Amino acid sequence: MLNIRLTDLPAVKCNNDVAFLGVLAKLGLGFDCASLGEIKLVLGLGVEPSRIIYGHPCKTVSALRYAATRGVSLTTFDNLDELEKVASTCPEMGLLLRIYAHDETARISLAKKFGAPLDTTGELLQRARDLGLEVQGVSFHVGTGASDPKAYIAAVRHSKQVFDLGQQFGFNMCILDVGGGFQDENLETIAPRLERAIDAEFPDRAVQVVAEPGRFYARSFYTMVCKVISRRTHVSTSQPSREQKQHHSSSAKVDMLYQSDGVYGCFMNALCEGEIYQPTVIRAYTGGPRTARNNGTHLYSIWGPSCDSLDCINEQTYLDCEVRVGDWLKYNNMGAYTTACSTTFNGFSNQYEIIYVAPEISLNAYLPSPPQEEEAEPMMAALEFQPLELAELRQAGK
Ligand SMILES: *Cc1c(COP(=O)(O)O)cnc(C)c1O
Repeated sequence: MLNIRLTDLPAVKCNNDVAFLGVLAKLGLGFDCASLGEIKLVLGLGVEPSRIIYGHPCKTVSALRYAATRGVSLTTFDNLDELEKVASTCPEMGLLLRIYAHDETARISLAKKFGAPLDTTGELLQRARDLGLEVQGVSFHVGTGASDPKAYIAAVRHSKQVFDLGQQFGFNMCILDVGGGFQDENLETIAPRLERAIDAEFPDRAVQVVAEPGRFYARSFYTMVCKVISRRTHVSTSQPSREQKQHHSSSAKVDMLYQSDGVYGCFMNALCEGEIYQPTVIRAYTGGPRTARNNGTHLYSIWGPSCDSLDCINEQTYLDCEVRVGDWLKYNNMGAYTTACSTTFNGFSNQYEIIYVAPEISLNAYLPSPPQEEEAEPMMAALEFQPLELAELRQAGK
């Protein structure tokens, strides 16, 4: 359990579903917004602008002006030009200096793009002071899908060095923003180590610690259900050619399933993060006369709906029965960087029907049956969406 003064500012970018954000807002959390659109969205939920950080070190002047006019009072920077921009647009805006941080194990490193190297922070602070701006602290982000506590520990140590430097320049350094990167699997490891590092570097605790968790909040609250729209089973040929033999050196024949959503939809992390998706089958009620379904495990490859062969969800996976057109494939943990990243490539919809269900009700009860023949819209259900659990999580974070 953390006993640091931790304020959560969940990152809107990983899931901008207003129902989800609304629950976070009700819990009293703030938000990390990175664009004009995200700021508008969050303000539209009735969130006080003082609970928003404009957490992007490279902003457009128009968005910055909008944020300032609407009362957002904190943003980040990591370069000299951003300081000029702030000075001429909204000099009263509070600033956090985003420093370089990097976790080798992160699924997506942000370090290539953002974060001032430590040896440039003196010049940046000097310029901020010359421009009469107010630097109030430091932020970092070790990368999304991170897992190594050492990256956080190093970043906290570097933050302290920048705090000291800032104080020498006369700034009231009081906010430490430890970014995101937290996951269900790593929070237990990272949180206590992070806490100890903060204790060690800031023993007087005269610092407000904030975090910007993205996937940690969103990921497990959504389950996605995709419809199987086509299937290509292997038709046995009497004599496989030598070429075929080479391609399928293993004796297994992989039948192919095509589902209603793919890497240009909610499964982009197959490409970006190498995420392995493992669905379970929900059998459709087929009605009418039925041929017996083959039970027992069956090897499949699973594909998205587009014409692109990159659009592969899983190249080879055992499902626990024969799958037929009209069945559904159910994926857990589909709340982070899914709907938020979905495109309309190839003319496929990126509109999802989101069903908020009480955890004890089976998702199957919500599936249309018998399956309809028209265009299959992928569905996203926020199963296990338990505000109470979130509330407890939030308590644990205090
Ligand atoms: C993406 C991002 C986050 C959220 O990252 P997660 O890895 O999803 O926790 C937080 N802060 C900033 C500045 C980001 O860019």
